[in-house]
Amino acid sequence: MKLPIIEYSALGEPERRAALSRPASDQRENVVSLVRETITRVRAEGDTALLDYAQRFDGGAPVNLRVPTSEVDEAMARVGAEALRALQRAIENVRRFHAAQIAPSLSIETSPGVRCERVFRPIDSVGLYVPGGSAPLPSALIMSAVPAGIAGCKRRVVCSPGTQKGRIDPVILATARLCGIDEIFAIGGAQAIAAMAYGTPTIPKVEKIFGPGSTWVTTAKQLVAADPDGAALDLPAGPSEVLVIADEHADAAFVAADLLAQAEHDPLSQAILLTTSLALAERVRDQAMAFLGGLSRAAILDESLARSRIIVVADIDEAIEISNHYAPEHLILQISEPRRWLERIRAAGSVFLGPWSPEPMGDYCSGTNHVLPTYGYARAYSGLSLADFQRRITVQELTREGLRDLGPTATTLARLEGLDAHALAVDLRLGALGRTLETAGGPTSIDDMTTRLARPSILSLRAYEHAHWDSRFERLHANESPWPPPIDAEGDRLALNRYPEPQPQALIDALASNYGVASSDVLVSRGSDEGIDLLTRVFCEAGRDSVIVCPPTFGMYAVAAATQGAKVHDVPLTADFQLDVAKIKSFIDAGSKILWICSPNNPTGNLLDSTDIESILDYSKNRCLVVIDEAYAEFSQAPSWITRRDAYPNLVILRTLSKAYGLAGARIGCLIASPVVIRLLRKIIPPYAIASASVDEALRTLQSASKAVIDSRITSTLKERERLADKLRSSPLIATVYPSHSNFLLVQPHDSSAVLKRLKDIGILVRDFSGRSSLGPAIRITVGSPEQNDRIITAISSESPGSGKP
Ligand code: PMP
Repeated sequence: MKLPIIEYSALGEPERRAALSRPASDQRENVVSLVRETITRVRAEGDTALLDYAQRFDGGAPVNLRVPTSEVDEAMARVGAEALRALQRAIENVRRFHAAQIAPSLSIETSPGVRCERVFRPIDSVGLYVPGGSAPLPSALIMSAVPAGIAGCKRRVVCSPGTQKGRIDPVILATARLCGIDEIFAIGGAQAIAAMAYGTPTIPKVEKIFGPGSTWVTTAKQLVAADPDGAALDLPAGPSEVLVIADEHADAAFVAADLLAQAEHDPLSQAILLTTSLALAERVRDQAMAFLGGLSRAAILDESLARSRIIVVADIDEAIEISNHYAPEHLILQISEPRRWLERIRAAGSVFLGPWSPEPMGDYCSGTNHVLPTYGYARAYSGLSLADFQRRITVQELTREGLRDLGPTATTLARLEGLDAHALAVDLRLGALGRTLETAGGPTSIDDMTTRLARPSILSLRAYEHAHWDSRFERLHANESPWPPPIDAEGDRLALNRYPEPQPQALIDALASNYGVASSDVLVSRGSDEGIDLLTRVFCEAGRDSVIVCPPTFGMYAVAAATQGAKVHDVPLTADFQLDVAKIKSFIDAGSKILWICSPNNPTGNLLDSTDIESILDYSKNRCLVVIDEAYAEFSQAPSWITRRDAYPNLVILRTLSKAYGLAGARIGCLIASPVVIRLLRKIIPPYAIASASVDEALRTLQSASKAVIDSRITSTLKERERLADKLRSSPLIATVYPSHSNFLLVQPHDSSAVLKRLKDIGILVRDFSGRSSLGPAIRITVGSPEQNDRIITAISSESPGSGKP
């Protein structure tokens, strides 16, 4: 009985399975061995075998295997204008839909320094098979030729049997011409597949074969795909099928025609209707039978309709569930509001929504590809798309830091899998990274540079994990006392029994805004002294690395280096206390890690020439860190180097609240650098470095009200500095008073011990630099309060000692 109507609810589980089973595919036992024989022969005899097979199985041996251009020209003339227009329109729509599938390449950083990409490259050569048979199938060619062209496949080879005395149907030739293909070969069947997979003197070898075909063709595609020397195949093929879901409002004639359109393809084709309406089921069956008499492919329909079914289901939900399980190649929804159900469709090759979207539109010309997964493959496969004509190539690139960071994960996994050579490939490089630091070529980013400069042991160091700092919770996780110290309300207010925030965010933000930088560029430290120490420890490997220091300058740069076991290259300031640029550059060349510059410089008090610094910064970019210590910047009125950090990512600035801000006792300094440097420093700063009370004082000092006071103090210090300098210059005891941009004056007394004694006698200590550097007898006097300065002036203005004594 053709198109039986089945009530799904009346079926038990085995019957349900039987109702939805697919016809067994045609598996004649000798097909595989015959096809294998064909392939062997084509490989051995090449074109001779092809011509012989064409004579026996196609419509005769072609005069030329390769179709001459003149024959294609002739075909273009023979195919009518209407057919050409239809072909062109179909090609244009398929081109549009597939061109829209061009995907951008993709590039992301999966973890720091690990870049993963995906790029597309066309498959160089593709073989497009077009079956012969009783009618030409130009749509089969369009569906592979067009996307192959868009993908950029350099070679598109068409094979189709010469069905008309060795000649390919003119419609196929015209279609190939319209698709821009000129390598067309008149050969069909398994021998054509073998020829394209392995190449013959006439037919070029291709990398992937597309297109439908008989059991012979399909078997040949499978066999050559299994051979690494053969060619890949497009999709596993099976008989075509349709599943229609229709409700009681569907047009029975439309539905019947859809079922027949599918069934006429092949005796093994299957058409299934799932409907919620028994009345519709009957109308569809009757209508199909009525159509049948007028259709030409009666013999095929006779067989295929016997395998087709109309199943009455309870509701659309059930229909969708059955359809998802069946995973049809084509799914037609002739139900009200079909788009509403689309989301529920999980497995189907292609979906046709509503009464006006018949399947042939997709078969021919809407634009979607008609090469679709059949036979239940739609559960896991998808129809042909642009991607099938492309190679999707992934790319990865790891920076040194990336490999240092992620390499150990790979070695762990390699060892878990027992693959020692895998582990070795990574381990070798991790080891090499440690050794090649000094000699590595110029990096391109601050991240690269930092990775190259920093000590490997710090890069790979897992930072101490301090107790999680979250003020919303009650804290019993850090072994603190639940009670504040029994001192006064201050202890309570500051919660001194609690560890402070590891890097106090409010203070970081206040400092960032004070200096006009991003918070991520700031590290708070215990005075800038700690910044000096941290930088040295992150970048200088004991016994190997070196820093450049320009004495006379702040002593902690050399002390930090010495404590860390790093070498110090001294490049003394010139006679006018400026940088010896050439010599500094030579030590940068030698691979020094850090150049310490102090400007205004302690103890000379002067600003260092900004063109010199710029020249060094230009030179040192990507080679070493340049740290400019601006401890005294507030007294210089020169622009801060902070503003130049965009141009020089290797520039690190030290600032302190110890001087102009009057907070030396709070020990608050800060380091301004790129986030990658800040992150490394944070790894090694002790967990709760910054005391709560200090944070509190610093925050209050940075408030705008306090800043006004500080500004007026700076102004007064500058005035006092010039007054003191003038008086010292006129003192008979002083040979030189150096110009100062700081809150101190460097002076050269004629007899420094005499001056020191006079000042000691009035109860004032100054700093003696005599004999400690190239300065000769030199003392550094901090600009004090006006009253203190008065006393100094009195003490050193008279010839005889003691007269200035209070
Ligand atoms: N840099 C320079 C140039 C200094 O003179 C000093 C202290 N005298 C410091 C840094 C350290 O200052 P602090 O640790 O107090 O911020």
